[in-house]
Amino acid sequence: MPSVLIKNGTVITMDHERRVVEHCDILVEGDRIRAVGDVSDVGEMGPAGSTGVAGSTGAAGSTGAANAIGADRAIDATGCIVIPGLIQTHVHLCQALFRGMSDDMELLDWLRLRTWPLEAAHDEESIYYSALLGIAELLRGGTTCVVDMETVNHTENAFWAIAESGIRAVSGKVMMDWGDDVPEALRETGEHSIVASVELADKWDGAADGRIRYAFAPRFAVSCSDWLLREVGRIAAQRGAYIHTHSSENRGEIEIVEAERGARNVIYLDRVGLLGPRTILAHCIHVDQAELDTLRRTGTHVAHCPSVNLKLASGIAPVPEMLDMGINVGLGADGAGGNNNLDQFVEMRLAALIHKPRLGPTAMPALRVLEMATVRGAAALRMEDEIGSIEPGKKADIVLLDLRKPHASPGACVDPVSRVVYSAHSSDVVMTMVDGRVVYGGGQLTDISESEVLDRCDEAVVRLARRAGIVR
Ligand SMILES: [Zn+2]
Repeated sequence: MPSVLIKNGTVITMDHERRVVEHCDILVEGDRIRAVGDVSDVGEMGPAGSTGVAGSTGAAGSTGAANAIGADRAIDATGCIVIPGLIQTHVHLCQALFRGMSDDMELLDWLRLRTWPLEAAHDEESIYYSALLGIAELLRGGTTCVVDMETVNHTENAFWAIAESGIRAVSGKVMMDWGDDVPEALRETGEHSIVASVELADKWDGAADGRIRYAFAPRFAVSCSDWLLREVGRIAAQRGAYIHTHSSENRGEIEIVEAERGARNVIYLDRVGLLGPRTILAHCIHVDQAELDTLRRTGTHVAHCPSVNLKLASGIAPVPEMLDMGINVGLGADGAGGNNNLDQFVEMRLAALIHKPRLGPTAMPALRVLEMATVRGAAALRMEDEIGSIEPGKKADIVLLDLRKPHASPGACVDPVSRVVYSAHSSDVVMTMVDGRVVYGGGQLTDISESEVLDRCDEAVVRLARRAGIVR
């Protein structure tokens, strides 16, 4: 089993004690963390003195020989901060190709005038390269796991991109069988939506050595019939599957749901059987106390997406109140079509800042925000025993940051968690590891040809915009 020794970093473990350990080694064996801290007594590591792969991780420094315990490879993390792989609990890889094409609109116009026509214009190739584009940005920026919502068609091609790229993902085909202004290519019957989703779930749930999981993903109550939502609730409960949907992002959305279904959004979603500990709701901005109580009672998780909530002028979710109540909240960038980037460092900084004017400077301390980006994201996926922290036995999803730069210095006397949340940029990531494999290092993605993806995306977006009838 290949082994890697990450040497001498400052490790923000995010373990139960939230320990930060300086001059700390991490021993990775296969896809898991074997030891953290003193790794000298872990026993035989395979062929003694084997040199393995040397010199390929760049800024973090890599050497095949500089370890005394016989690991196949050593990565020198001296001067680096080491964090658990970041987890984004709400993204749309299929929208990476729409970046910059739908600025300065509110949600329902953004959907009807831009995003739905663009999604309708996708083909197999454009979905595939859109997903690779999004994943390239995510891995470069230290995000190792996402909860992803695709579009109605061609989801299979996004799964291929996920499988090939090395990222960990919970993803699903979007489901929509209801509502006005939906382009022809996105119209599907509820029955077809269910059959297609179950087929994808059967094929992809647990694929890529368990890196891929399936989520049933009704888009939101405005574009789903009552029948479809109830069927999703029933089938997901039967299968023990994830449910991922949007809720209470926009006031117009809430008015439509109240008029058509006779209840506020979260109450309605509970009524049709969609809420529970396997469900992640994106946004939850406009929620009243009864809805907050329902989220807590059902153990439903929330994905906070501060950038996109500001950019679409949607509002600010009551996240500190949710956390205080015991509602679990993760963090995500949403789609690049709305956000314009998929940068968890931007989301962390914003999540820390936007609640302070209303609730005071201690409403969202840096550690609380980093918890949302790591252990709380893992809890939202019910993977808290597998990912989200750097501890022996967990999956080796690990990120190295080089913060020896003016924008994040000085480092002495400063809490490393503060540096990560308030000062770091995604471009400070020098190594991203998923399942014990380096998927980004030395400025290069391991499994994605970045230049090819950029070229193909430039070509695809022209065809896409033409098919969508959008003048650029
Ligand atoms: Zn979304």
